[in-house]
Amino acid sequence: MRFIKSTTETVDKNINVYDNLDVPEDIKDDVINTKKTFNIKKYTHVRLSELATFCPREYALGYKYGKAKESYTEYPLMQQFEIGSALHFWYQNFSKVFKDVLYGNWKCWACGKLRGRDEPLFTTRDEIRKNPCEHCGASGEASFYHEYYFRIDEPYRVTGKIDGFILKDNKLHVIDFKSYFTKEDFPKLQDKAQLVGYMLFYDYLPDSLKLPLPIDLETGYLYYLSKKFSYRDSILCYAVTKEQKIADAILKNVSLFSDSVKTGILPPPFDICSRSNWLKGKAKNCFLRELCKQEYVGV
Ligand code: SF4
Ligand SMILES: [Zn+2]
Repeated sequence: MRFIKSTTETVDKNINVYDNLDVPEDIKDDVINTKKTFNIKKYTHVRLSELATFCPREYALGYKYGKAKESYTEYPLMQQFEIGSALHFWYQNFSKVFKDVLYGNWKCWACGKLRGRDEPLFTTRDEIRKNPCEHCGASGEASFYHEYYFRIDEPYRVTGKIDGFILKDNKLHVIDFKSYFTKEDFPKLQDKAQLVGYMLFYDYLPDSLKLPLPIDLETGYLYYLSKKFSYRDSILCYAVTKEQKIADAILKNVSLFSDSVKTGILPPPFDICSRSNWLKGKAKNCFLRELCKQEYVGV
């Protein structure tokens, strides 16, 4: 192990001078922050991006006992998330691919307000950038995509953030971006579930949260963006329909949690968790495993 202090000289309180140090990993960790990140998540609403993997009992327990899931993300993994987010951002704001088909709200980075005088404008990048900000007069070029966010308590406790909408056949379609390195069996079930979730729960939003244009709630699109060069597969697009089987499974699980919030009655544990004495399946990595077990066998 090398100790960076032994090869550096402190010339000012916070400034190190590196003498012939050719170990980039050491310098990296000394100058920038690649430490793991602490995350905390409350169990108040089901995130639609987690529909395929969430456990209704874990949410119900977390809500009932006011718990929050605490975890750490190592930087290499965080870096993958950040690269994915950067790709999203690029396609929403700079790539020519979506410049006149991607619809949404836009935020002015100069004043921080949503673009639009009385109501937020819901339009394309090409259109929004033609005019200066209605609030502060900053250049239209300073407008950036503002993802559509919603959170509801009734009749289902869900929250979601939608990557974008494209206009096709006079209707808006929900889209979601995924980045990938190696082509797999796309579209993945969890990605389909996320899109089906958006289409399913949009119907339940109050009018005040709904978008100003009609939405097609039967078909959405998943865009897989390649992180490596490929003539054939640089962008893959899959249409996702609101399959009844997936929609039923989602509603069943989300209802189990939403009902539990009202009644206080906990959903049963997964079979694999209870049969393995909370040692296998999802229990292995479940933040509330001990509480789940206590509640099941302890009374
Ligand atoms: S141990 Fe299993 S059943 Fe219990 S809360 Fe965790 S994932 Fe759900
Ligand atoms: Zn502005």
